[in-house]
Amino acid sequence: MSSDRENIIYLAITLGFSFGAVLCFFYQQYIAQIKTSKEINKVNDCVIPSEISTLISRLRMSVSMRVANVPDAIPSAVVFFQRPSYIIISKLFLDNSQFELRHLLALIAHEAGHIKKSNKSTWGIILSASGWLAALIVALVSLSTFNWTYFLYSLLAATFFTILFIISSWVDEYSADSFAIKDASIPVEDLAEVLIALKYRYKRTFYKKITHPPVSYRVRRIRQLYGT
Ligand SMILES: [Zn+2]
Repeated sequence: MSSDRENIIYLAITLGFSFGAVLCFFYQQYIAQIKTSKEINKVNDCVIPSEISTLISRLRMSVSMRVANVPDAIPSAVVFFQRPSYIIISKLFLDNSQFELRHLLALIAHEAGHIKKSNKSTWGIILSASGWLAALIVALVSLSTFNWTYFLYSLLAATFFTILFIISSWVDEYSADSFAIKDASIPVEDLAEVLIALKYRYKRTFYKKITHPPVSYRVRRIRQLYGT
């Protein structure tokens, strides 16, 4: 068999393996989430405002709320194949002296947007994670066999998949912002204000920085597109 053909077979096996590994990882996450599933309205002895349940049922979504006891938990949506999916907020967001209800609703609507649009972003993330893992495996194998051409290709592939991951995450954030305003009828300024408030309140981790566009971009975008 020619070495080119062999290389293609190895590459296909590597890609298949990494895709399987990533799917398996998300499936385990899914099972773990299902096991700890809780119902809306009563979580960790917190009372979630009824306006939130109203908003979620108005959007005809199957979403369960969770309240984290850690004060610095930023709202996030867990969407990987979960039915129902989850929106997680910290207790702090239920404190009226810290956050107004309209701001909390804007946040929940944004997170609901992630869930509603989850199909596209889930596949984008799975594909880029699989590609990245495959590139890493090829890089390690080519390093051990001193095949510098393949090593270079794998670095290029890893860079490509990293960029793909960042772009799909940014598109995901923008579409969740649009969903909050267009589909959930959240006023533009409510979303803008809470995004700015979160920016000053929380230090963004490296992961958050690369997966979320800067707040100034997001605020400018929603004002330009939907502002009056
Ligand atoms: Zn988001």
